[in-house]
Amino acid sequence: MTKSYEFLALILDSVTEHIVVINRAGQIEFVNKSWSSFGRSNACIIGDGWKGVNYLEECDRAAAMGDSFGVMAGRGIRNVIEKSEATFHFEYPCHSPEEKRWFMMRVTPFHLNGADYFVISHQNITERKLAEEEARNIAKIDGLTCIPNRRSFDEFLHEEWRRCLRLKKPICLAMIDIDYFKLLNDTYGHQRGDECLVRVGSLLKKYAKRPGDICARYGGEEFSLVWGDTGLTEAMQLSKKLLEDIAELGMPNVNSPVEKHVTVSIGLAEMVPGIEMDECEIIARSDSALYKAKEGGRNMVWSE
Ligand code: GH3
Ligand code: MG
Ligand code: MG
Repeated sequence: MTKSYEFLALILDSVTEHIVVINRAGQIEFVNKSWSSFGRSNACIIGDGWKGVNYLEECDRAAAMGDSFGVMAGRGIRNVIEKSEATFHFEYPCHSPEEKRWFMMRVTPFHLNGADYFVISHQNITERKLAEEEARNIAKIDGLTCIPNRRSFDEFLHEEWRRCLRLKKPICLAMIDIDYFKLLNDTYGHQRGDECLVRVGSLLKKYAKRPGDICARYGGEEFSLVWGDTGLTEAMQLSKKLLEDIAELGMPNVNSPVEKHVTVSIGLAEMVPGIEMDECEIIARSDSALYKAKEGGRNMVWSE
């Protein structure tokens, strides 16, 4: 019996998951090596010297100090003890000053010689969490220009529209379309076209510096800028400056009927959001302003 206990304890010591076993009252009956060495080096809710420690009381103590892990863990473990849940698991961040880390906590009951025990394991899931975070970021960034894509633009505009509605402040949207871009592709090839999009994209970043701003690739050779809590006068100045900056880039487009270099047309709209409308309205307005800028001869800003 002693040998088999030792044998199993050694197995548990060799796994990387942090394992602790408690009884119905929450008292710790066993911890594996990973658990105690992690506690020692990470100032977790229970450090070294786990003998006689009550895990549930430690969770409650952490919860009382405002630690959300303590609240969730305490509740989850009690649910399994009271059998209102068969098992319990949840993911939580546990960042150290040096690195981001996440863990998955699992509570699984077992029964031995008439008594209930509960295995609480903590598994490091940082690799998966970082991969998920990266996938989320990739999904929001345009692959070519490395600025926000249409999807992040839509999400951002939705939130910013609501913020300006609450503040009763104006919001401006500039729809930017490269003039005769198809001609640029036809003249210099698709790759030069791509380079042009990249340069326009990085220029636009300089126009979206505040938390209420965003620049995005709206699609193809169309870009957009949102300026929250900004009036038309300021937005108009910014748009005109943008036309100048684009000209200064001096990217050739010799066959363009407008200029020998790349130019853009900008449709600008300003609105103070009202409760009876949504952000589609400002997109429609900047779209029709862009149409007017194209009709008016391109390389200009148009606003109603
Ligand atoms: P306008 O002045 O009226 O805006 O004319 P335009 O030629 O700029 O507009 P049009 O809509 O006729 O053509 C847009 C072109 O943009 C067609 C498409 O092949 C090209 N395009 C869209 N996405 C990309 C891209 O990622 N890279 C490159 N190189 N070209 C692209
Ligand atoms: Mg276009
Ligand atoms: Mg165009």
